[in-house]
Amino acid sequence: MAEADTTPPAANALAESQLALRDRLVDAGRLIPTGVAGLFGRDVVFEAVVSGVGALVAAAGEDDHPTRVSYPPLIPKVDFDKIGYLRNFPELVGPVFSFVGDAADHRAVVERLDGDAPYGDLLTQTEVTLTPACCYPIYPSVTGALGAGGAVFETCAYCFRHEPSVDPMRLQAFRQHEHIRIATPDEVLDWRARWLERAPELLSALGLDVISDIANDPFFGRAGRLMKMSQREQQLKIEFLVDVYGDEHRTACSSINYHQDHFGHTFGIHTDDGADAHSSCIGFGLERCTVALFNQHGTDVAQWPSPVRDRLGL
Ligand code: ATP
Ligand code: ZN
Repeated sequence: MAEADTTPPAANALAESQLALRDRLVDAGRLIPTGVAGLFGRDVVFEAVVSGVGALVAAAGEDDHPTRVSYPPLIPKVDFDKIGYLRNFPELVGPVFSFVGDAADHRAVVERLDGDAPYGDLLTQTEVTLTPACCYPIYPSVTGALGAGGAVFETCAYCFRHEPSVDPMRLQAFRQHEHIRIATPDEVLDWRARWLERAPELLSALGLDVISDIANDPFFGRAGRLMKMSQREQQLKIEFLVDVYGDEHRTACSSINYHQDHFGHTFGIHTDDGADAHSSCIGFGLERCTVALFNQHGTDVAQWPSPVRDRLGL
């Protein structure tokens, strides 16, 4: 006899809404399934919305004259390890492995392939890791004295997090568009205060129902519980949450993190007075915003309200 389903009804209802939204996007052709949860192709319409949102995120920070930089979706393993991602979020990481053996080692791999058996233990970790947040490659690049006024960067890249889900708002590979401030604590907090206004303005001008709230990162395990509490107490992470699955299940389309001196200390970045620089970043999840817009206005952009289409250049 099948065991009784013990999943609470609320969780079932939420999963059903997530599946329904995913199916709407797939049926309309906006997302192309690959067979792996959270890994999709995107059609040209989806990409047009992504570009429109990216352009708005760029424009919102223009007054700060950011230095625009691009990195591939990989960072050196040494930097990834220094940042502490594996320590804090072990179940999300994507280290890259490859084959470095000889002909005999290769025969062993092929045998596993032929037998449909796992072969991970025959591969070797490389010097690179998939980037989980697009600002990470920037901090190691600014080591040393920052100079007066500090630095502002803007970047966008694909990120990887191993969090397979039926929810089309939660992908394994997604783009972040970020603005990053590295400076004295006062300068960083001033910058953050401006984005606390800009971000909800940007999202609500697109017809999304958005609220701001204090949040925490999913730090792992027992030690992680304390880190979550301390992050909340100090209000280091603020999310801009949209209503896609009901008011009680809001999802972050954007979040702003204040790292204090974490990156400044780790990578030896100094302000004029010789102190470790502070930093903060605001990241917009481009696919999250895009999926939220399809949910809000429908999968056919021709039917979207014209002010929203105009804003996005559609
Ligand atoms: P969540 O709490 O939903 O896991 P987060 O707050 O940890 O997300 P951040 O690390 O702050 O996310 O990343 C910045 C932005 O990147 C998020 O606000 C979100 O829009 C986007 N993002 C994060 N994880 C995902 C994902 N798995 N799929 C799609 N977008 C994501
Ligand atoms: Zn960041």
